[in-house]
Amino acid sequence: MADHPYRGVQVALATQHGKERALAPPLARRPGLIIVPLAIDTDAFGTFTGSVTRTGTAAEVALAKARAGMAASGLSLGLASEGSFGPHPWLPFGAGGVETLAFIDALRRNELTLSAVSRRTNYAWHDVAANANPAPFLRRIGFPAHALVVRDGDGGVLASGVQDEATLARLAIPGTRLETDMRAHLNPTRMAAIRALAGQLAARLATFCPACGCPGFGMVDVARGLPCASCGSATQGVQTIIDGCNACGFQASRPRPDGLTAANPASCDWCNP
Ligand SMILES: [Zn+2]
Ligand SMILES: [Zn+2]
Repeated sequence: MADHPYRGVQVALATQHGKERALAPPLARRPGLIIVPLAIDTDAFGTFTGSVTRTGTAAEVALAKARAGMAASGLSLGLASEGSFGPHPWLPFGAGGVETLAFIDALRRNELTLSAVSRRTNYAWHDVAANANPAPFLRRIGFPAHALVVRDGDGGVLASGVQDEATLARLAIPGTRLETDMRAHLNPTRMAAIRALAGQLAARLATFCPACGCPGFGMVDVARGLPCASCGSATQGVQTIIDGCNACGFQASRPRPDGLTAANPASCDWCNP
């Protein structure tokens, strides 16, 4: 007997960048999905080098890519990922990374997205100057396993996917900028982050909605208002986790996983204005 309705079921993955290598193993164990990679022109949804500007949030773009894969394959399940790297208008902090994964089940009318801030991102750049040695930068970002984009002084892309010393030596003249190539197949650090997020998706899909039985029940929101340990007034701290099902709309709240029931008075507007 199948232990999961997705066991042995195909899911379309729109990717040009070999992401099935990161996504397939975690999802193969449980729920047991079989990834069908489709060479959709995902660059049409926006590129890291800025040659195509992304429209919409990362979640919207990931869902749109997933739909494109489903349309191209005729499959009712779709999967896609989208990365955001700083400094960037979508990110409230500096050189960070956020990976977003979208999953669609058209038959059960379920759509969900998961995001994770990658604490490990190698997004960085280096301006090439005369008499300066780029070797420490190259070591730090993990060249040549991690590829580079070379830009001219005006920001135009001279080359991307650069992974060999000879090409780099020819292009990296003073006045150019070296930048990490964030496409997943050229960036093992990103691949690891996508794989970790796929593990979260696998756990999420292994959880069934208590109301309708749809796979993918899990955290959709938090309720703030954790009471201050000293005066008891509501703070901005998270009080409960809200789990939800995007197929039927059922929601249930549960306590914080860390068991914390009161906020530090230092975070209380009343005790510590
Ligand atoms: Zn449900
Ligand atoms: Zn207080």
